[in-house]
Amino acid sequence: MTISGTTRLAGVIGWPVTHSRSPLLHNHWCARHGVNGAYVPLPVRPGALATALAGLAAAGFEGVNVTIPHKEDAFGLVTRRTHVAQRAGAVNTIRFEPDGSMTGDCTDGTGFIADLRARGIETVRRALVLGAGGAARAIAAALLDAGGEVLIANRTATRAEVLTRALCGGEAVRWDAWPARLEGCDLLVNATSLGLNGAEGPDEAGYWAECLERAPSALAVADIVYNPLRTPLLAAAETRGLTTVDGLGMLIQQARAGFASWFGVWPEADAETRALLLATPD
Ligand code: NDP
Repeated sequence: MTISGTTRLAGVIGWPVTHSRSPLLHNHWCARHGVNGAYVPLPVRPGALATALAGLAAAGFEGVNVTIPHKEDAFGLVTRRTHVAQRAGAVNTIRFEPDGSMTGDCTDGTGFIADLRARGIETVRRALVLGAGGAARAIAAALLDAGGEVLIANRTATRAEVLTRALCGGEAVRWDAWPARLEGCDLLVNATSLGLNGAEGPDEAGYWAECLERAPSALAVADIVYNPLRTPLLAAAETRGLTTVDGLGMLIQQARAGFASWFGVWPEADAETRALLLATPD
């Protein structure tokens, strides 16, 4: 696709943003669906989000995705929010409207549930979610709204407590106590940045193996980190013989609504899309 004056533009704002596979995914969909569009990574420092959004809107962008560490700031900066974004307390997808306003949506939770269903996990009765950032909030809200019970453990305990109050549901669990609370759960979700390439953390292989030592055999383990795809948590879960769900399916599912809103086509979330992401080195 040749970029010209009529090319529709979108991108992903993050800091860092080099790990993001969203440009690969959206540009693949543009080519596959014959859309005259382009999607670029946009490194924006913490504190500079408002300036960046105003500049991109003024430059004619259709909209943007917002990733770590900006999702909660984005929530406060948009003009209006969808019901799901309101519930999640976070925004990951913004549409710049012709009147200069900004509509914020949060597709992380709905994308996560859509991926579970695509993998045959139709119902979650009790989940333990690790993390209380933008993605964790969206996932916990979606699991609660789907009728499940949700336990939330976060390194900074007060953030988990604040989150359960904001969601009017769920139970905050101490970070050092979460492995003992896996009993009775059918899903564990890592929605922290532990496991992300370059992120600081404990000796992860040993840490996760120890955490999963007494996990129930029917537990499914999801890690929304997708770089690397086989995270230390998923490797430990596989060793235990547990069902695993990697972060690539959620990445694809959560991206679909933004693409449709900016480029006007509902894109495929099929094996070809997944294979493209798998075949392309980081
Ligand atoms: P946020 O910055 O909003 O939240 C980060 C979370 O990770 C916080 O709960 C934080 O805890 C926790 N955390 C960070 N470092 C550590 C550590 N060393 N030990 C324990 N907890 C830690 O990020 P997001 O919610 O936006 O994203 C979280 C992860 O999910 C990222 O890796 C991101 O790439 C991935 N992601 C994947 C998606 C997908 O489609 N597959 C979509 C969205 C995100 P604390 O509060 O204590 O700081």
